[in-house]
Amino acid sequence: MNPHNIDTVPTDLFIGGEWRPASDGGRFDVINPASEATVASVASATVEDAITAVDAASSAFADWSGRTPRDRSEILRKAFELFTSRREEFAALITLENGKARADAIGEAAYAAEFFRWYAEAAVRNLGSLGHAPASGARILVQHKPAGIAVLVTPWNYPAAMGTRKIAPALAAGCPVIVKPASETPLTMLALMPLLEEAGVPPGVVNILPSRSSGQVVDAMLHDPRVRVVSFTGSTEVGRKLLRSAADCVVNPAMELGGNAPVIVFEDADIEQAVAGTMLAKMRNLGEACTAANRIFVHQTVHDEFADRLATAMSSLTMGDGMDPSVDVGPLVNADTRDKVAALVADAVAKGATCLCGGEAPHRTGFYYPPTVLCDVPPGATCVGEEIFGPVAALQRFSDESEVVARANATEYGLVAYVFTTDLARGLKVSERLEFGMVGLNRGLVSDPAAPFGGVKQSGIGREGAEEGMQEFLETQYIAVEW
Ligand code: NAP
Repeated sequence: MNPHNIDTVPTDLFIGGEWRPASDGGRFDVINPASEATVASVASATVEDAITAVDAASSAFADWSGRTPRDRSEILRKAFELFTSRREEFAALITLENGKARADAIGEAAYAAEFFRWYAEAAVRNLGSLGHAPASGARILVQHKPAGIAVLVTPWNYPAAMGTRKIAPALAAGCPVIVKPASETPLTMLALMPLLEEAGVPPGVVNILPSRSSGQVVDAMLHDPRVRVVSFTGSTEVGRKLLRSAADCVVNPAMELGGNAPVIVFEDADIEQAVAGTMLAKMRNLGEACTAANRIFVHQTVHDEFADRLATAMSSLTMGDGMDPSVDVGPLVNADTRDKVAALVADAVAKGATCLCGGEAPHRTGFYYPPTVLCDVPPGATCVGEEIFGPVAALQRFSDESEVVARANATEYGLVAYVFTTDLARGLKVSERLEFGMVGLNRGLVSDPAAPFGGVKQSGIGREGAEEGMQEFLETQYIAVEW
């Protein structure tokens, strides 16, 4: 696969080990956010294609789940090596369809590859247990079996990593999968397929179904009783719909949904570290991340120094086509996302926020929005309650620890929070009071294949990464034994 020659990237559906067009011949365009030009036309799966994919996964299940854990592990390890050797090519493809800057894309490709390595190691550690029933004396034998066919639905913001974070644990557990990538960015998952075949993944074990009719296609699969897991990463709004669909056939849901991450900078924070951590939490992936810093609370005694340093750092970033390695900030994924960011900034300013830098979309081709810092964002501003999903740092002041914890928790989301303080005891105490699935303590980055990634409240159900990530694709079976 050579991303500079997009013609080599497959653009049909991949079902049962074969590339094929959609049953009705439908296709849709993929756009380069930097040039607004069409880069590919991709087959758009129908409901009929979806059921064909479930048939293919069903045929592959017995063989794949019956292989030894070592077999599956070796294939995943090979996928890690192949992906790592083609990291630069995947990074270029990610930038082409998503827009993110080259450094972000290379970071994503490395992160995406790591899930194959981590789950190659986890595949051979699916341990059960044996115990004594206290009263009857029978033995309690517990084992974890592959749950069955898994439907994986992924978002556009990490076209590679959100796929591999699901595919690798599912394959390690012994489950065949059907991947429905986001319509903005289907190419990266399509390009992954030849690599997985080369690694030894048999036909039918991974099927890739881009579709512009995502609602109907996913709903049809969730109403097929052979499908036992739905793993979704995307918005809370779509997650709710999938949970409703999953209820009918009682499909196991794993949900990685939206976030509204608070950053808390205490008066005793190392300001340089806090600015660097906030830059990472805000600007990684251009703010188009569920983990992105959305509400930045700064203690009033250090607020002005922090805001000035943050504005300096944000203003120093270079905006342009992400393919250019000197660029820090690429375009947003599409016009709607850029317009939403612009509207959130206009709303905050109209309600009293001060703009320290940025704040205006440039008149140029591409879906660009500049790094922006807003101060004194009022609680009633729309960006306080919603994901910004763009390069806008929205600052608020606070004066008291309990007050800021209450304000940080005042959201229906609970994915990740960030805390900056040089007092470790205080940092741990505050972390425990935060109603979030993850906390970055003096760190602006929490994602790691070896850590359980996920949220509480309306940010999701279940975890990805770590041992927990494989459990989403396993069912526990208990056998009561007499001997
Ligand atoms: P989205 O609109 O919810 O779409 C996500 C995926 O769901 C896409 O593949 C989309 O397909 C599909 N989809 C849309 N409507 C559907 C329906 N009715 N039934 C079945 N599938 C449907 O989210 P997004 O805009 O791509 O991604 C941004 C969101 O993802 C943000 O809220 C972000 O916080 C969240 N996110 C969460 C995590 C996490 O780990 N918690 C990680 C990354 C992103 P189409 O593209 O064809 O519409």
